[in-house]
Amino acid sequence: MNHHGIHHVTAIAGNARRNVEFYTRTLGLRLVKKTVNFDDPGTYHLYYGDETGSPGTILTFFPWDHVAPGRLGIGETQETVFRVPEGAIGYWTHRFVENGVAHQAPVKRFGETVLSFKDPHGMRLALVARPGITGEPAWTNGDIPAEVAIRGFHSVNLLLADAAPTGAILTDVLGFTEIGREGSLVRFKAEGTEIGGIVDIHGAGGFLPARMGGGSVHHIAFRAADDAAEAEMVRKLAENHGIRTTEQKDRNYFRSVYFREPGHVLFEIATDVPGFAADEPVARLGEALKLPPFLEGRRAQIEAVLPEVA
Ligand code: ZN
Repeated sequence: MNHHGIHHVTAIAGNARRNVEFYTRTLGLRLVKKTVNFDDPGTYHLYYGDETGSPGTILTFFPWDHVAPGRLGIGETQETVFRVPEGAIGYWTHRFVENGVAHQAPVKRFGETVLSFKDPHGMRLALVARPGITGEPAWTNGDIPAEVAIRGFHSVNLLLADAAPTGAILTDVLGFTEIGREGSLVRFKAEGTEIGGIVDIHGAGGFLPARMGGGSVHHIAFRAADDAAEAEMVRKLAENHGIRTTEQKDRNYFRSVYFREPGHVLFEIATDVPGFAADEPVARLGEALKLPPFLEGRRAQIEAVLPEVA
């Protein structure tokens, strides 16, 4: 079994309730974990994904009510892209029109149909139509039919001054291979990984640097099967690329290290284990506010400052 590819994408949102409404109702993802930012426990950390929160399906947010909007630029994620079954683009275009979701006309990229849109806080997203995936399991919120529902990530698109140094990290450390070029895009794929298996680098030369804010992606996490696989990646980063990571941090549902890749995007390596059923059953994921053991003693104060979201 392959354990490479995107583990999760974490972004910055505005109002938490609006974020939950958009991702669970408009897009039909499952809220798989309602917890707090472990480094800032007065704010939520909300996780969306498939039924179990499988690696490669997880989009997470730090919602801050009065966050200033980010500005797209060099050294950040330009677009986060989900997979939908071939033939579903018409359904989604219609849904976006009905729900007032800002979107563009579909375009072709690497031969695939791409429908770009934005969430209510300006995050740049897209859907890609993929053949042959209608039979894959899909979470449904009861409103969006399973045959058109989102099936995890297709890719992320990084806007960088230069594709090569980041490409070297993807290929040497993170299990990707370069598989194609189109215009200023270089496509990398984690072999054997269909869900969350693609990273596109958009080499843009001298563009303004990004300014992080509402709608910006905070970091991209890549998969490691377990602690040993993660440690091996940390060793390669240090020995082959002179990059040091943070120490390993226990995020309750995975264990992570972080580093700034050469193109200035914050990368994380996260273990596939233990997963989101570590502290509540799959049937109840996302219903209760879950706290890590070191914050349980402060539950009353934390609950008092968090707004109701769902
Ligand atoms: Zn993360």
